[in-house]
Amino acid sequence: MEIEEFWKAILADLEIQISRPNFLTWLKSSRLKEIKGETALVSLPNHFTREWVEHKYTKIILGSIRNLNDAVKHVEYIVESSSLSFKPLVKDKKIPQPNDRQLFLQETRIDPETNLNTRYALDSFIVGSFNELAYSAAKAVIKSVGTKYNPLFIYGGVGLGKTHLIQGLGNEIKSLYKGNIKIRYVTSEKFTNEVISAIRNRRVDDIKNTYRNVDVLIIDDIQFIGGKEKTEEEFFHTFNALYENNKQIIISSDRPPKALPVLEERLRSRFEGGMIVDITYPDFESRVAIINSKLQEKGVSLDDESVSLIAKKVQKNIREIEGILNKICFYWFEREKSLGIIEIEKIVSDVTQRSANRLNPTQIIKAVSDFFEIMPNDLTGRSRNKELVEPRQIAIYLLRDMLDASFPFIASRVGKRDHSTAIYAYKKIENNLSKNPDLNQKIMMIKDVVNKMEEVR
Ligand code: ADP
Ligand code: MG
Repeated sequence: MEIEEFWKAILADLEIQISRPNFLTWLKSSRLKEIKGETALVSLPNHFTREWVEHKYTKIILGSIRNLNDAVKHVEYIVESSSLSFKPLVKDKKIPQPNDRQLFLQETRIDPETNLNTRYALDSFIVGSFNELAYSAAKAVIKSVGTKYNPLFIYGGVGLGKTHLIQGLGNEIKSLYKGNIKIRYVTSEKFTNEVISAIRNRRVDDIKNTYRNVDVLIIDDIQFIGGKEKTEEEFFHTFNALYENNKQIIISSDRPPKALPVLEERLRSRFEGGMIVDITYPDFESRVAIINSKLQEKGVSLDDESVSLIAKKVQKNIREIEGILNKICFYWFEREKSLGIIEIEKIVSDVTQRSANRLNPTQIIKAVSDFFEIMPNDLTGRSRNKELVEPRQIAIYLLRDMLDASFPFIASRVGKRDHSTAIYAYKKIENNLSKNPDLNQKIMMIKDVVNKMEEVR
């Protein structure tokens, strides 16, 4: 049997053994690289997936393989990032939804030299009181690349424009300085994957060549770096090499440097020596401005009532605003239909509902119990079994951190009589996060799972 056929058979077998969302999230994009002697080598698209699959599914994967080929005794994994790996999720032959089309467009606009998406421009970045500090800092960097604000560290919540701003900044520097400045954009997840596979393939020099020879390094979502000493070590040396040569470093993060627990102290203090700015939630006027500018970009017009409806309902996430506008445009162009206020209201509530649903206590509890391989009922029940202590504390922490749930509510969900226990557990995890990289890694992985649950819905 060909290796691909063989793996298809294994996947078909795995698919019936685990839940569909889990299958889609973790295994669908896996491939079998080779079987060498007693070892099957499986390739996965990223570091998180690898950790998860290795921890959770090795046993059943091995079982399925051995059903067909009992010479195999071990499964090993390799990370090979491939932008194609998420394709299967949108493969169905249905009418393209705006999001798919947008995704497609975005993918095709990556500048291979800088890795920047040319879609992100500072010109289309709306500035309001919520982000003006970050924007002025970015502007200042353009004037004195590498010398004024270095590193520039921008942090803020999901969907508030960090990626847009730092990529727009990169694009602007490129167009201003023409070919005289070498720019490189990378997400910290991709960087981590590259370092890990470089080490595996003994090609660490490649990393050095790619990243230490640039004039501007832009790292997105730094909170995902580390957990692995080698990655952080490599990042630290890259950072130092650039910094000491007055090269510009631009970083985004979902939290300030002091709340990045995995980060080594020396790196954290370097970040703190630069310019740190945050992006907060946009006020109503800014939201209206953003909506109007996006509509103009798309060539669609909408009455004021609809615009202010959207601006009122979506307060904390500009990506959500875009999701709504994409849907509206979809009807406008594909169905040649403009929408009345009732239909718009429906779209708004669909999108906001989806993101409200996205994070619900049940999902968090499920993700935590999956991770520790216990039953959700045990986690939420009253058993005093010692093995349940850590999972429960982590569940409490995540319910608070991700949902902002009240402590009495949290206590009721995890079988605690008294909410002071929940407060205690929350504080305990919060304190330990900065001291315990393992704990931090666990929490990041579980959060990642909760976030992915939405994608496969
Ligand atoms: P983050 O990286 O903070 O999660 P993104 O940069 O991906 O957020 O922004 C989410 C979406 O919202 C993007 O499509 C981006 O173009 C858009 N967006 C964010 N902030 C602004 C802004 N100030 N003006 C215009 N569009 C914005
Ligand atoms: Mg981003």
